Amino acid sequence: MPSLESLPPELLCSILSHAEPFNPTIKQYTVNFKTCKHNLESIITHPLYNLAATSKHLKDTVEEYARILLKKHAKFHGPKKSNKFIYRKKWLKWLDATCQLCHKKSVRKAIFDNIMTCCATCDKKEWPKMTMTDASHKHNLSRLDLFTPNILHPDLPKLSVALYCCMGTNATMLLEREVLERKRYIHDLLGDHAKNTAFMQSRRNRHLRIIKHMDVTIHRGKWIRQSHTLSAEKKESKSMSSAEERRRFTEKMVEQERMYMQG
Ligand SMILES: [Zn+2]
Repeated sequence: MPSLESLPPELLCSILSHAEPFNPTIKQYTVNFKTCKHNLESIITHPLYNLAATSKHLKDTVEEYARILLKKHAKFHGPKKSNKFIYRKKWLKWLDATCQLCHKKSVRKAIFDNIMTCCATCDKKEWPKMTMTDASHKHNLSRLDLFTPNILHPDLPKLSVALYCCMGTNATMLLEREVLERKRYIHDLLGDHAKNTAFMQSRRNRHLRIIKHMDVTIHRGKWIRQSHTLSAEKKESKSMSSAEERRRFTEKMVEQERMYMQG
């Protein structure tokens, strides 16, 4: 029966290409209880390391594979002869600390690809993006237009969403290309209404009211249920007074919005 070790090197390299060779972020932290310190050599549980740990033959294969990757992508030629040099270690370190687009030093990961090291300049250039607030205010798209599918747009696909932590707060990011495409689609549905800025602004506010009556909110780019608590200070409107009233209001408003979308 053939084993991994009996396979020809080309086939082994093809198998290794599925062992997350371009993901430098797989790490698992364990503590060395004797010293109470992280032992850097023992924490790496990357599939390439796991495979290399199984036998000398697979270790040599992984090393050769990492050497080829370094030569091809980093133009790095390792020492001619050294028993101490570890190519897989060098490869993962290089991936983790080098922008994969311009090859400058960087440790940040791309906002829309959290395993790819990418400097801020390349990230901006390669993936033009905007915050949810900009998509909503500058392009007059409501949250119901952006975070689909939902009650108003049950058949619209999901847009790509990523979170970006900036000064301690998470900003919800969307790809510019997808937002503009969505805008064109919504404008087509709305026909002449879309040319009326005041209409578009009040439409956005109406959608906020629908969302409020649905007892849902957007959290980390996803719709989540929000338990409804009656406000003690201000009097709630009749439409908010019970689950049945909220459901009735939502249905009526969604129906009206659908009428507008027929042009
Ligand atoms: Zn870069």
